Amino acid sequence: MLNRQGRPTTPNATNETGQLATIGGHRGLDHEEPLIFEQGEEGRCGVDLPEAPAVTQRLGGLRRKGAIGLPGLSEPQVIRHFVRLSRKNYAIDMGVFPLGSCTMKHNPRLNEKLARWKGLGDLHPMQPVSTVQGALQLIAELADWLKCLTGMPAVAMSPAAGAHGELCGLMAIRAALIARGDARKRILAPESAHGTNPATAAMCGYEVDPIPATADGRVDLEALKAKLGPDVAAIMLTNPNTCGLFEREIKQVADLIHGVGGFFYCDGANFNAIVGKVRPGDLGIDAMHINLHKTFSTPHGGGGPGSGPVVLSKALMDFVPLPYVMLTQAGYKLVEIDMSGTSFGRMKAFHGQMGMFIRALAYMLSHGGDGLKRVAEDAVLAANYVMATCGDVMSPAFEGPCMHEALFDDAFLKDTGVTTLDFAKALIDEGYHPMTVYFPLVVHGALLVEPTESESKDALDHFIGVLRGLAERARAGGNAEYFQGAPRLTPRRRLDETQAARKPVLRWKPAPDTKAAAE
Ligand SMILES: *Cc1c(COP(=O)(O)O)cnc(C)c1O
Repeated sequence: MLNRQGRPTTPNATNETGQLATIGGHRGLDHEEPLIFEQGEEGRCGVDLPEAPAVTQRLGGLRRKGAIGLPGLSEPQVIRHFVRLSRKNYAIDMGVFPLGSCTMKHNPRLNEKLARWKGLGDLHPMQPVSTVQGALQLIAELADWLKCLTGMPAVAMSPAAGAHGELCGLMAIRAALIARGDARKRILAPESAHGTNPATAAMCGYEVDPIPATADGRVDLEALKAKLGPDVAAIMLTNPNTCGLFEREIKQVADLIHGVGGFFYCDGANFNAIVGKVRPGDLGIDAMHINLHKTFSTPHGGGGPGSGPVVLSKALMDFVPLPYVMLTQAGYKLVEIDMSGTSFGRMKAFHGQMGMFIRALAYMLSHGGDGLKRVAEDAVLAANYVMATCGDVMSPAFEGPCMHEALFDDAFLKDTGVTTLDFAKALIDEGYHPMTVYFPLVVHGALLVEPTESESKDALDHFIGVLRGLAERARAGGNAEYFQGAPRLTPRRRLDETQAARKPVLRWKPAPDTKAAAE
């Protein structure tokens, strides 16, 4: 560290390798960055404001009584703070982002531009309907594309994410069951389904009954048959499933569940693996959400924004949530009141995900039907390329080709002293965001790689070279310490995950002697 006079406190300090350490400025281009609150100084401000007139009764006497604890900063301090933080981050705009089950792919800038277009970007949810006809038409056109691509008669556009779409689908199923006076309680969720499926069912008040996976990573049809009964409300199946495999017996699953009067919910978050190749409507599905932010572009990660429209079969279409767009002789209308009495109600106040609708429609229009089909083909090809080129040094979890994700187990690390976690951390030092690890749970020490269709062969080859190199280094033996010490080239080394889970520090608190109590 530098002292207050800007002189190094220990001018001859050496680093790990015995060479002179940096004087204590920054670490190359990686600047140590305190919290913005720690940088604030009372009275400092980014703008010069005139003195407020001395009026005793301002804002109806609701004048602030104490400080609100905002940091005082100059404009360059603020800019530097956020730019420095952004440089510590990994992003899809930096390199391959192989997180499985997330579809981190390039989002065309054209779609971003359109979403920010004046008139679209400035829309307000309280505008009179006559002034937002274009926006409603856009929602209706996107709905038509989704119905056409899925072969389903209806779509609910209001869900704000994939998991929200699952909730919407289950609420429609519950409404349909109640309408026929048959409030069933049990939902079947295969182990190859995404974790949000059982979570949604539980949140909706259902009892979740798991179905084991077969040795080849798919739903066990015999086990499913054994669990069927007149109290089963629905099955929630993910297809392609979280093992990156297509559930081949999906039509039998549909027939079986319909045979006992239940509904078929399909988690279609991974639609980018099948879009243009197969229509869920032809498979006997009753409800399926599609993550627009995965398949049809929109930057995501870090919790949003997203959009998870749900396509619905004839049996469920009367129960769609409010509001929905309808074309009348007087133009487009946003139906907010349920005249038929069958809608299960409202899930969300406004279409706050309008920007995702714009990006998705732009993506569809710029690709066209044939282009979307190639999206699926390229996503599957890229994953199989990773699987085929790494299969001899890593251990594929299942035999045969995969869909859009390549799944490995940790058998290739056996007796090396290196764990899946160590392997993932070593990838960071090579400049890559790790793949998804330890998920799905049905595979031991899982490593789930989703390269997506937007990576070039060059980019994949480089990534594959690193995967192979690390696998070979681990298997050579004697290198456990190297892996256990990774990452070394990050702003922080390995974090204490137990402490992070047990005692998370989620909020900055001012030192006790600071008057600016941030309450
Ligand atoms: C991403 C994903 C979800 C959840 O979607 P969110 O938009 O994150 O809520 C559900 N199921 C599958 C298979 C997914 O990949």
